[in-house]
Amino acid sequence: MIASLGAQAPIKSGSCRPPGSTVGVMGSGQLGRMFAIAARRMGYRLHVFSPEKDTPAGQLADLEVAAPYEDQAAVAAFAAGVDVLTFEFENIPVRSIQWAAAHCVVRPAGEILHICQHRLREKQFLASAGIPIAPFAPVANSRELKAALASIGTPAILKTAAFGYDGKGQRKIASLAEADSIDISTPCVIEGFVPFDKEISLLVARGTDGQAATFPVCENIHRNHILDLTIAPARVSAAVEQSAGALACAIAEKLDLVGLLAVEMFLLPDSTLLVNELAPRPHNSGHYSFDACVTSQFEQQLRAICGLPLGSTELLRPAAMANLLGDLWEHGEPDWAAAARFPDVKIHLYGKTGPRPGRKMGHLTALAGDTDAALAMVREARASLTGTEPL
Ligand code: AMP
Repeated sequence: MIASLGAQAPIKSGSCRPPGSTVGVMGSGQLGRMFAIAARRMGYRLHVFSPEKDTPAGQLADLEVAAPYEDQAAVAAFAAGVDVLTFEFENIPVRSIQWAAAHCVVRPAGEILHICQHRLREKQFLASAGIPIAPFAPVANSRELKAALASIGTPAILKTAAFGYDGKGQRKIASLAEADSIDISTPCVIEGFVPFDKEISLLVARGTDGQAATFPVCENIHRNHILDLTIAPARVSAAVEQSAGALACAIAEKLDLVGLLAVEMFLLPDSTLLVNELAPRPHNSGHYSFDACVTSQFEQQLRAICGLPLGSTELLRPAAMANLLGDLWEHGEPDWAAAARFPDVKIHLYGKTGPRPGRKMGHLTALAGDTDAALAMVREARASLTGTEPL
């Protein structure tokens, strides 16, 4: 069970929101944009809410509201105009979701966002649910840090409890002595360093009827703490695949999820799995599903929150996804025609202006007969954008 944050008003009751209904999204980045594409295709109307204008999702929406998440009247008016509301990133204030829940159905529930937007709450939830995770401890000052390091050991990773993503707000601590020079100014979590073999993730969707469906396990390769490449299916044994799916379903069940959940895991050399992080929304590592699965993660999110039966998550062809970061624009516009010369590569661009280093501007997905071929192809296609060697 999860703590209640207050009752949700049954303004528009009944669990099914059929095509033709209006879906609201809090947040308006690329995840919202791809969700919008899926929703539009199925005949839904789409409203998005974020502090910005001309956003990746807003460009495809019927209505784009630009207002602060803290503007209660704007949030309430937005929620009153939709049949079901969801969110596309975790750093939406839970208060805003509670305001919205007084006017429409919110899926996943605000309680789930509350847990997943804070590393400590998330780890405490996972630990209490009996899910295997790395040893961790909350730390609010350097005395607590030293005490925790003494029991967890080094190396360890210090992470801010809130607002961390893509490795932001993280540092590795190699020794107990190093702790003396660390000044902790915000609540943090310290966790044991995991000597993993691979990082994998998978998505699970759960509908209003409690039925769950997992996507294929995929393998993730990071560069500078940002996801660089995803390979689907992951190059892991059938037993690992099965354990990962069982863990994801157990978490979705414990959360009483209605919607989509991404579960990031570490795979250890002895085939043990440890859960690293949860995201109750579509995930960068699931972008391959847009082109490679019968049902994409975005359509599945839509089906789940609208109370429709879930779609098949079958992988049609092995795939590899490569992120396109702003760095690719360093010497001018990438050569899109060069990437388009790869007939089995799909180009996705998010409609963002201002390519900054590290900013996710788009991605490529390559489909091939096997994962190694897909990986080689997507690397080559990305390198062709800048006329460089594949990374
Ligand atoms: P996170 O923001 O927690 O997903 O961490 C970003 C990346 O840092 C992960 O994808 C891993 O590559 C690495 N990382 C995070 N936590 C650990 C850990 N406990 N042990 C080893 N590597 C980690």
